[in-house]
Amino acid sequence: MAGSGNRKSVSNSSDFPLAGVTRDGWSTDDRATATCYCGTVQLSFPTQGPGLGGRFVCHCHDCRKITASMFASNFTINDEYLVHERGRDKLSTFSQCNSIPNNRTMTNYFCSNCGTLMYRVGSGWPGYSILRIGTVDDVSLHETKLRPQVEQFVDCRVGWLQDAKGKDGAGKMEQAGRQFADFERSAVNPEPAGSKGSAGANSIL
Ligand SMILES: [Zn+2]
Ligand SMILES: [Zn+2]
Repeated sequence: MAGSGNRKSVSNSSDFPLAGVTRDGWSTDDRATATCYCGTVQLSFPTQGPGLGGRFVCHCHDCRKITASMFASNFTINDEYLVHERGRDKLSTFSQCNSIPNNRTMTNYFCSNCGTLMYRVGSGWPGYSILRIGTVDDVSLHETKLRPQVEQFVDCRVGWLQDAKGKDGAGKMEQAGRQFADFERSAVNPEPAGSKGSAGANSIL
């Protein structure tokens, strides 16, 4: 499933820093890997084209809890383009609906060996998986093709993160605010979210 040409890996690029024990991640012009901390689970996904959906940061309290951090950085992939390179049978799942609107569920898929959350699947979005930018092995993609387009649940953002934001793009990232419509659109539309305050859909997942 690897794309053609310009294959990058630890052997020929500095964009694969030592992180966990994984040393076999790769990227091409149109695909890349995402690997868990221990290396048991590895995915590959498109970095452009019809398989790549929205990229977004989420500050909601679920995302704090599930990441054990202050926000989540995500991107959505059409499942038809998602490949489990290895370790699919080592993924464990946990689902809940307590904090998801309309009694929908979010199912978390994480490495049963090291606990890295690899992706989430929402019952309201059949056919899409929400991957994590931080698991992508080629770190240059974090700043380029996977750079978040929008920021969700801005009113939940921890106060001290204001000062941690970069000069560029901060305003653009805020445009989605807490608009569920933007969240939904970002899941399926590879283009940046539109203007702020668009239609107030009440369904998120
Ligand atoms: Zn692992
Ligand atoms: Zn969230």
